[in-house]
Amino acid sequence: MANIQAIRGMHDILPEQTPLWQYAEKIIRDVLSNYGYSEIRLPAVEKTELFKRSIGEVTDIVEKEMYTFDDRNGDSLTLRPEGTAGCLRACLEHGLLHNQVHRLWYYGAMYRHERPQKGRYRQFYQLGVETYGMASADIDAELLLLTDRLWKRLGIREKVRLQLNSLGTIAERLVYRDALVAYFEQHLAILDEDSLRRLKSNPLRILDTKNPAMADVVKNAPELMNYLGDDSRHHFQTILDTLTDLGVSFEINTRLVRGLDYYSKTVFEWVTDELGSQGTICAGGRYDGLIEQLGGKANSAIGFAMGMERLLLLLETLDITVASTIDVYMIRVGEQAEKVGLRLAEQLRTEIPNLKLQLDCTGSGIKSQFKKADKSGAKFAFILGEDEVTQGKIAVKSLRDEQVGQQLLMLSDLADFLRKQNII
Ligand code: ATP
Ligand code: MG
Repeated sequence: MANIQAIRGMHDILPEQTPLWQYAEKIIRDVLSNYGYSEIRLPAVEKTELFKRSIGEVTDIVEKEMYTFDDRNGDSLTLRPEGTAGCLRACLEHGLLHNQVHRLWYYGAMYRHERPQKGRYRQFYQLGVETYGMASADIDAELLLLTDRLWKRLGIREKVRLQLNSLGTIAERLVYRDALVAYFEQHLAILDEDSLRRLKSNPLRILDTKNPAMADVVKNAPELMNYLGDDSRHHFQTILDTLTDLGVSFEINTRLVRGLDYYSKTVFEWVTDELGSQGTICAGGRYDGLIEQLGGKANSAIGFAMGMERLLLLLETLDITVASTIDVYMIRVGEQAEKVGLRLAEQLRTEIPNLKLQLDCTGSGIKSQFKKADKSGAKFAFILGEDEVTQGKIAVKSLRDEQVGQQLLMLSDLADFLRKQNII
């Protein structure tokens, strides 16, 4: 019988890969707490209606990427393709948005039925950050400074570039939309099928096209920047000034429209040239209109989402070793030694809370246990045989330093020995 395999585009993260994930996750958590952000945990499944209403019907996600199914009650449910909608749903549901300010983050798997390729999967992990209740350009800038700091801590600042744009208010965008439709209508022959459809439903998305045949038409299209009112302009300029002031480099990309309908004013992406067409590792923007759209009182909101797999692909291009290490590998030979060794291991873990001790439970011969000790990457092997047990002693061997020979220690001296090695 053939073995059952994982679903296409959904990947296992194996034990040899998790140390790098944990390394990145720890730095991310540290930086978020530097700025006073709190974690929120959300369900992986929501009512389909939530995503249709928030993301918008005419988007890649809702049109073709959602995992939607009827549950046993006949309700239409969807595996979350992103976290913004669920986060806002939760905050509205629990009354967190009444005259309050929030800085939140969540972390977890998202699901989209896309064509799998490097950096694009059907289950992928996102770090999401959402803030509510702040209209000031300082919070837009804060998100950019936070991510800039994160790249620096991770050592990838040189590998990513910040691209920024302003989409203005919905009213400003409507005027622009008319101008854009009029322009594209003069170039109908060059538009592809997707774009012709979007011309009616969501013409701004045409600017997002990856079709090279349309590159020229898109390049010469009217620019949204020229349709912004004073307030939008000022908001955008304040962000740019703050970034310049604090030495964060950026590029203005007037073609950056982002896939989702709910953005207003600031939109941004952190992109890299090292991952081919899956070059966006972090993307976000302001979505002041969405809270009202989901039935709440009009309020400010801005956030971003970061693709963890793409971040990890970038980290793998660096020369960092973050193997998970253990301190002690304990070898036991003989029935008595097995009994004494297990008790001793427990006792040491109690005495030295940070100790990382792995007990050999294979019951195999001493040679084979030694091989496993070497492979484990441990600093020391503790060896317990019948002789040692009779003497109340244990053999200790350094696995890192060949010069240091094996020594025989009293069981009662082990804790002190470990403390002297700075294992406390
Ligand atoms: P793309 O243009 O690459 O499809 P997107 O605009 O659909 O991206 P968002 O919805 O903004 O992406 O999601 C934020 C981030 O999540 C992306 O910048 C990317 O890093 C990551 N991401 C999105 N879709 C996937 C996927 N299918 N596999 C892996 N990571 C993804
Ligand atoms: Mg996409």
